[in-house]
Amino acid sequence: MSGWDEGPVGVVSSAGSPSQPDHRGDLGGGAGADPWGEVIGQPVAVTAVRAALARDEVAHAWLLIGPREVGQSELTRALGAALNCPEPPAPDTGCGRCATCARILRGTHPAVVDLEPEGAGHVVADVREDWIPSASRSMTEGRRRVLRIVAADRMNEAAQNAFLKVLEEPPASVLWVLDAEDEGSLLETVVSRCRRLDLVPWGPTALLELAERLSIPEAQRAALARAASGSPQRLRALADPEVAAARERHLGVIDRLATAGPGAVVPVAKELSAWAKGRAAAVKAKHAEELADLEAAFGVDGGRGWPSGVKGRVTRRFERAERQAQRQALDLLLDDLAAYLRDLIAVASGAPGSSLVNLDAEAELRRDAERLPVRDAVEALAAVAACREALDRNGSAELQLERLLFRIALPIYAAAA
Ligand SMILES: [Zn+2]
Repeated sequence: MSGWDEGPVGVVSSAGSPSQPDHRGDLGGGAGADPWGEVIGQPVAVTAVRAALARDEVAHAWLLIGPREVGQSELTRALGAALNCPEPPAPDTGCGRCATCARILRGTHPAVVDLEPEGAGHVVADVREDWIPSASRSMTEGRRRVLRIVAADRMNEAAQNAFLKVLEEPPASVLWVLDAEDEGSLLETVVSRCRRLDLVPWGPTALLELAERLSIPEAQRAALARAASGSPQRLRALADPEVAAARERHLGVIDRLATAGPGAVVPVAKELSAWAKGRAAAVKAKHAEELADLEAAFGVDGGRGWPSGVKGRVTRRFERAERQAQRQALDLLLDDLAAYLRDLIAVASGAPGSSLVNLDAEAELRRDAERLPVRDAVEALAAVAACREALDRNGSAELQLERLLFRIALPIYAAAA
């Protein structure tokens, strides 16, 4: 992640990796778009940031608390455009039309950079060897460097203590944006040095509008917008027909386990984990093509080698993206199972069908609520969370899924016996 100011754009920047899809197109943006118009569903946060810009009182560190990917990326880019646009129409916004704004909004300008966790989280070496040197390097383009720490709540304590030093004596040209779902994982000394902003899940209207822009077939729009549970990231994933089909299979897991008996647990776990691996394989194939293009761009095949360090950086970026693709697929699966179990509990508690997340699976939910006692459904839900944590610690996906499915299925078999 070092070397942001060198090399062809998009090669050394981590922006635009699969976890940070460039979804401007999805939101109807284009040349000349209003940078703040790209930040959907967060009017309170947008007003606060624009007011700070207008008064020239922009904090040097912002802490965005909220669910992942509900506008953190768009908000950071709009802020970066306002701070770096060479001819801003007003102090609180970039023009959205110039080359600088366009690159910032696409995520390919070196002044606005996403710092993604490499593995399970950010570690002290990231802060000392990458963030701090990069923050103090002079800028070759733009006026103000905006560094967004993606999943800042996944910084371990040593990393936070190292990071605290830059927060206490910030270089004047640098602005930090910390994304966190969980404020509790951050040291009070870090939190107290940031200006806090709350980001909220998207409401139904914004999700339905996004569903339409994503060209989700009309018949599925309402159900998938609801299944997204406030997360535009999840809705973007569900817009892929392959992911929507996988969701239907995931919602049918309890039925399969109940019908086929204990012998089905291991094969079903294998099948689910193979699906997640397959999602990463598609990303890998795309990377092979990109590598060939880069070799051509650098003239590598003409007897010249790669410029120093570039291939290592590219390869690390690819590997990280491939790991993330597999993890995202597993998260989609776990989100599906968790939402189904929550709905099961709601059905068992007599909640009306209109309150379900999985509106399109009401009949299946009523059938499965008879199979899995509500107390066991609550425990199964906790097992989904435990599975996620085990995966955070780099546990084997197949083994963790097997363990999860056994915990879901055993009470079903006990209840049937
Ligand atoms: Zn501009």
